[in-house]
Amino acid sequence: MTDLDSTATRVLLATVAEHRDRGRCTVRSVALRAGVPAMTAHSALHRLRAEGLVDWQEGARGTLRPLVAEVCRLCKGSGTRLVDDGPIRCPACKGAA
Ligand SMILES: [Zn+2]
Repeated sequence: MTDLDSTATRVLLATVAEHRDRGRCTVRSVALRAGVPAMTAHSALHRLRAEGLVDWQEGARGTLRPLVAEVCRLCKGSGTRLVDDGPIRCPACKGAA
């Protein structure tokens, strides 16, 4: 794993959140959300792309997307939660388990 600086990390998290909330993102919307100048977001996104963490279609607006996903905070992505009777499908994310 790479050693991303805090700016790149903020831009990555903003990309994940924008994509989750709005279904699409742009350099501008990610920059706004991360609270950094667009030029800063732009160079951070190129670093993140080199690391395989985000991708976009060259020259096409609104195609920026994260290649990492959030993990359900209740079941930690396992898809099941333990209750008194045993494991149940996680109601928060309806995981595939
Ligand atoms: Zn879950």
